[in-house]
Amino acid sequence: MKKSQLSSYVVLFLLTLSFSVSRASVLSSILDITPGSSSEDLLGCLLSNSNNITSTSQLLFTPANSSFLPVWQASVQNTKFLKPSTPKPSVIVTPVEETLVQTTLHCAKKHGYELRIRSGGHDFEGLSYSSDVPFVMLDFTNMRAIDVDVANRTTWVQAGAALGALYYAISQKTDTLYFPAGLCPTVNIGGYIGGGGYGNLLRKYGTAADNVVDVRFIDVNGKILDRKSMGEDLFWAIRGGGASSFGIVLAWKLNTSVTVTVLHQKSNHISTSLGTLEAYHMHNDLAYVLARIITAEVISKQLNTEFNKMKFDDDLAHLQSILALPCRKS
Ligand SMILES: Cc1cc2nc3c(=O)[nH]c(=O)nc-3n(C[C@H](O)[C@H](O)[C@H](O)COP(=O)(O)OP(=O)(O)OC[C@H]3O[C@@H](n4cnc5c(N)ncnc54)[C@H](O)[C@@H]3O)c2cc1C
Repeated sequence: MKKSQLSSYVVLFLLTLSFSVSRASVLSSILDITPGSSSEDLLGCLLSNSNNITSTSQLLFTPANSSFLPVWQASVQNTKFLKPSTPKPSVIVTPVEETLVQTTLHCAKKHGYELRIRSGGHDFEGLSYSSDVPFVMLDFTNMRAIDVDVANRTTWVQAGAALGALYYAISQKTDTLYFPAGLCPTVNIGGYIGGGGYGNLLRKYGTAADNVVDVRFIDVNGKILDRKSMGEDLFWAIRGGGASSFGIVLAWKLNTSVTVTVLHQKSNHISTSLGTLEAYHMHNDLAYVLARIITAEVISKQLNTEFNKMKFDDDLAHLQSILALPCRKS
């Protein structure tokens, strides 16, 4: 071996060593990971595939982090799972951009971890945040942008956005357009449309899934697809067949062309009680009645909502006579 070749090998060895040491020190200092553990390989994969180790490391949580439990608990909506014995993820990843979602899928597959995807955490069986086998939890809490296009009557909404936040975002842009979805404001769009999505306008406009026009979706190979590139069969299946059965939804494009009339209500009946609203929905003629959330504040993922507007898109006079409530057209 020539002398120059030997020195190249030495430099390469030292570089590799220094990368390993710095990676290990980042893992142990920022993430508090035990060197040699299987989580270390997974985290090493996540970090080595990222452009910025420090910022990515702030989006990862392991049981050794003090923030791990609060992050996991934040969207455990079924309180029966809020107990120490509930199996928890080896790592929680909270991406702010699509590439980390792809990387998470790649690394989970490579290191033999199951992937659980959580948007709003309303899964009745806790399947989005728990599993009996070692798993990575992909939490969309940081991906909840909503882009309302009033002119084209469409809205792009990222998987982590709550229905309440969607209604609020639409109401900030227009007083006549709406998206026909459910009443519970904390259910997230990611899981909701994957399950079909019923709501108060079902009889007139179909399910929420019927009103989806496009999607950004990651398939099992990590490829980003839209409606055109995935084809109509898959597009049909992910809107009701449980999106996580097929891949990962990044965002849905919604048809927000349903037009409604907004009535300002000043009524003690409405207050903040969903129960009162449900009573209205029971009436035969009020199939199209829905509540619109006009104030929604996000505090630690909890939406505080105030129902003081209602929307109706049918016979207004008839409706007013039924409700016999003072209202004015906006
Ligand atoms: C209080 C309450 C009220 C409800 N009201 C209604 C209603 O009015 N109408 C209605 O139709 N349903 C309703 N549901 C059911 C609800 O729509 C489903 O439970 C829905 O799956 C919850 O979505 P999530 O994102 O909040 O929950 P999550 O627990 O985060 O997700 C639910 C499922 O979807 C998967 N998933 C989540 N995000 C993604 C993603 N980005 N890509 C792929 N898969 C993903 C998860 O892995 C999991 O399997 C209600 C549920 C509750 C608990």
